Amino acid sequence: MRRSIEKVFKGMPEHWVGDGFHVSNYFPAATDFEKRMSPFFLLDYHKPMRYAPTTRRRGVGTHPHRGFETVTIAYQGAVAHRDSAGHGGVIRPDEVQWMTAGGGILHNEYHEDAFGKAGGVMHMMQLWVNLPRRHKLTAPKYQGLEKAVIPEAALADGKGLVRVISGAYEQTRGAASTFTAAHMLDLRLKAGADVRLPTPKDYNTALLVLQGRVTVNGSPALTEGECVLFKNDGDEVRVASSTDAIVLFLSGEPIEEPLVHYGPFVMNSRDEINQAIEDFNAGKFGRLDD
Ligand code: MN
Repeated sequence: MRRSIEKVFKGMPEHWVGDGFHVSNYFPAATDFEKRMSPFFLLDYHKPMRYAPTTRRRGVGTHPHRGFETVTIAYQGAVAHRDSAGHGGVIRPDEVQWMTAGGGILHNEYHEDAFGKAGGVMHMMQLWVNLPRRHKLTAPKYQGLEKAVIPEAALADGKGLVRVISGAYEQTRGAASTFTAAHMLDLRLKAGADVRLPTPKDYNTALLVLQGRVTVNGSPALTEGECVLFKNDGDEVRVASSTDAIVLFLSGEPIEEPLVHYGPFVMNSRDEINQAIEDFNAGKFGRLDD
């Protein structure tokens, strides 16, 4: 049975993260989304925007995270990352970085040097995926998913691809390992595609239209920047495109635990937030120079 639409919405007015990422927040800006989108906690979307060449490093300097994972998807541009667990890398178009902050990490995120010097269009997204209590303090982990390791399922009519970042699409398993079940699908559709996305009824589910025009479950046309939150009342979503389109589909098993968010920490209680601040100030997240 097809899910009904709970809400169609756009992101908040754009804001700068550091001086390199001009993003619109889709959740958790509205408080109820902490529950309605769990295990996904945050979605910041950087629509395509051209940066002039510069020799200045643009981005966000060293900062901590604890209690969740950050997932960075690049569509255009290049983002360089380094962290206190010794990982580093560049996230290029069609690549994904899945970083588990777990018990605590420091990292920085900048426009990659050559991209910054040449200038160009940045188009990217960052999601925060919450961790359940039993994994909140897990060791930091880094999955740098290059284009070739992200499985692509071709649609039967040749009208596009479903790139399976995590979870599964039909028989295709995703590239990233996750701590709780979470489907993250990057849909690259041609005009006239009609794709059926099965997902368990109790999974919290949304999709964001990045480019093009689509209808979902027979809705009026949706365009760039529109996000659809689905009711948990059916086991499939159908996406039909009238133009070439890029869509991100998110569907995950909710984490049914109390949640307290403070800045870069997502924990289960206020005490755990205080502990995170104390541990960070005591240097327990490691060391990382900018
Ligand atoms: Mn960060």
